[in-house]
Amino acid sequence: MTDWTRKTADELAQALAAGEVTSVELTQAHLDRIAAVDGNADAGIHAFLHVDAEGALAQAKASDERRAAGTPASYLDGVPIAVKDVLATEGVPTTVASKILEGWIPPYDATVVKKLKEAGLPILGKTNMDEFAMGSSTEHSAYGPTRNPWDQTRIPGGSGGGSAAAVAAFEAPLALGTDTGGSIRQPAAVTGSVGVKPTYGGVSRYGLVAMANSLDQVGPVTRTVLDSALLHELIGGHDPLDSTSIDAPVPAFADAARQGAAGDLSGLKVGVIRELQGEGYQPGVQARFDESLDLLRAAGAEVVEVSCPNFVHALATYYLVMPCEASSNLAKFDAMRYGLRVTPDGDPSAEDVMRASRDAGFGDEVKRRIIIGTYALSSGYYDAYYGQAQKVRTLITQDFEAAFAQVDVLVSPTSPTTAFKLGEKLDDPIAMYLNDLATIPANLAGVPGISLPNGLADEDDLPSGFQILAPATEDVRLYRVGAALEAALEKNWGGPLLDRAPELEGVSA
Ligand code: GLN
Repeated sequence: MTDWTRKTADELAQALAAGEVTSVELTQAHLDRIAAVDGNADAGIHAFLHVDAEGALAQAKASDERRAAGTPASYLDGVPIAVKDVLATEGVPTTVASKILEGWIPPYDATVVKKLKEAGLPILGKTNMDEFAMGSSTEHSAYGPTRNPWDQTRIPGGSGGGSAAAVAAFEAPLALGTDTGGSIRQPAAVTGSVGVKPTYGGVSRYGLVAMANSLDQVGPVTRTVLDSALLHELIGGHDPLDSTSIDAPVPAFADAARQGAAGDLSGLKVGVIRELQGEGYQPGVQARFDESLDLLRAAGAEVVEVSCPNFVHALATYYLVMPCEASSNLAKFDAMRYGLRVTPDGDPSAEDVMRASRDAGFGDEVKRRIIIGTYALSSGYYDAYYGQAQKVRTLITQDFEAAFAQVDVLVSPTSPTTAFKLGEKLDDPIAMYLNDLATIPANLAGVPGISLPNGLADEDDLPSGFQILAPATEDVRLYRVGAALEAALEKNWGGPLLDRAPELEGVSA
């Protein structure tokens, strides 16, 4: 019997088109897998905060009817997907993994969710994340951490650890994530999955609970480069409801991936970012990175080193810009309009209710960032911190421009280490922030990036990730180069990396 959960989205789409399976059957197969391995906060993967079995099966049934009538809504019609709990889903709880939004049922869909529904993809449920997407391990979820399918004593990355773990654990063939500083790419890297942060403005942010508006971007989390390209084509495109949305046709990402898989990269110039490798990178991660460069060379690419000197300031810049925007965004969670309301005893004023609600509703990391952002934006400090950070942000953008004048794509390891132990960095915010060293520059400049699995580190047999960055609106290059590297790696491995992940034992929810 075919195990439909082991198939890629592209394979599922083909099987549906050929009438070999129904959407109801394969949606049920994924719901069964979730029931078997996802567990809860205490045991299992815990990739999901909310599973919508009923909704998913109803969508699957409608998909099968369209297929039967010969009118599928899209190539992926009927292929199920998981959605990060930061995206509004009409009638389905959306918590951002925060107590402050516990029980909130949005009255509308985020544009990307609307697009999924229009394309016929059944939505399996909402995935776990760090509260308000702040973190690199999913341990800041108010509902308990997600566990890495490769080793359940380890983190699945963050903030989108739920989406990455769901895909890596074969609970969903596709997922949506959001990436403000690396929250799609870093979880993909440490779970052996593929994640893409599109060009800023390439995918609508309408209905995404904002962390930092100038950095946030929705993107695909999948098991193959082609699947990311297929999903990116579905969610991309202009949205009048997002003023930063790019008004241009969606490029042919899947064609680029299919072309790349043929493996010919002759004429391509690849730049290795000097500042994002070497010291501070785990030896096994660096070794896999160097091997991947050899594979790119073997495919005909020219590999050179380029310097982006201001990237060393990217982390400091990000940790000013992001909290400033977050502190302003999170002011709306005032217990008056949404979610949690705590009313202190006595005769409390509106201020007292807000204070008590925010104190009870926000976790420590969220409070830390609100405090940093409020401080940095206060008069007298604004120029010294926020203004200065914006200037350095421009320098980082100029570094990208200078580098892309020399090369077609830039590359680095996605994350300096493999998955660390749950709890290991939880009490050390700076150590946690350092995970984003290599992913943050792309968000500051708005350029697109992909992470794909490029092997297991020798020290711990855990996945490492290879990051490819391209100029803004040139996301096609990620798919072409990514698919070529993926094909070369899988040829060496004799199959996908995730085939080597341990079998998961069943747990009860
Ligand atoms: N880990 C980074 C942070 O904590 C990035 C988060 C994200 O991309 N949402 O801010």
